[in-house]
Amino acid sequence: MTTDESSAASSALQKKAEFIYITLIEHFGEPIFQGGDDPVHQLISTILSANTNDVNSGRAFEQLRQAFGDDWEAVRTAPLDAIKAAIRPAGMYNQKAPAIVATLERIKHDRGAYNLDHLPQLPVQEARAYLTALPGVGFKTASIVILFCFNGAAFPVDTHIQRISQRTGVSPRRANPDRIMRIWEGLLPPATFYALHINLIRHGRRICQAQTPRCDLCPLQSICDYRQQAGEWAT
Ligand code: SF4
Repeated sequence: MTTDESSAASSALQKKAEFIYITLIEHFGEPIFQGGDDPVHQLISTILSANTNDVNSGRAFEQLRQAFGDDWEAVRTAPLDAIKAAIRPAGMYNQKAPAIVATLERIKHDRGAYNLDHLPQLPVQEARAYLTALPGVGFKTASIVILFCFNGAAFPVDTHIQRISQRTGVSPRRANPDRIMRIWEGLLPPATFYALHINLIRHGRRICQAQTPRCDLCPLQSICDYRQQAGEWAT
């Protein structure tokens, strides 16, 4: 590909991303960031949410709070079996309980308390590096904390966003979530990330569903590779 062709492709991709952002706001409304979640709560609940659904991880988080209140020191120093029992609905409790304790230990060691108030002052790459150095925290979890706690410049990619990005052609068909995250972060300004993230998930749940996308109802069909190719390929 020549330099001119490469630049034209990049410009076309940017226009496609802008179209998706604007069209989903027209279709679903504009989600407004209402103030951040507590980052330690978010971090623990995101660890609980790995490989399970929202209902189970929410129940596990609630049971953790019933057992220990909002006292992270009590969780950190509790017998591991007590934490495992509390978070059992989330599954994988043998892995998640030690990950929670190790994460709390690291935060307490680094910060002297259970807060991450320094993160908004850091450039996003440094905030992400700090979070991913915590036990059990990957890029997706770090990006969730940065976006949902601080409305920061990170774009977490879940299964809905991965599927829609691949089908529309914003990302290559086999791109993994970390690559898709970086593609979106390079295409649109950070001020769009919160609303776009929420609306892509709405779109994935209601229209661009995994097994049977409802393309005839879709406001993105004019720019969608999957639609243009008559649904010949699956993601
Ligand atoms: S046209 Fe179909 S495949 Fe493309 S985004 Fe819409 S629902 Fe998904």
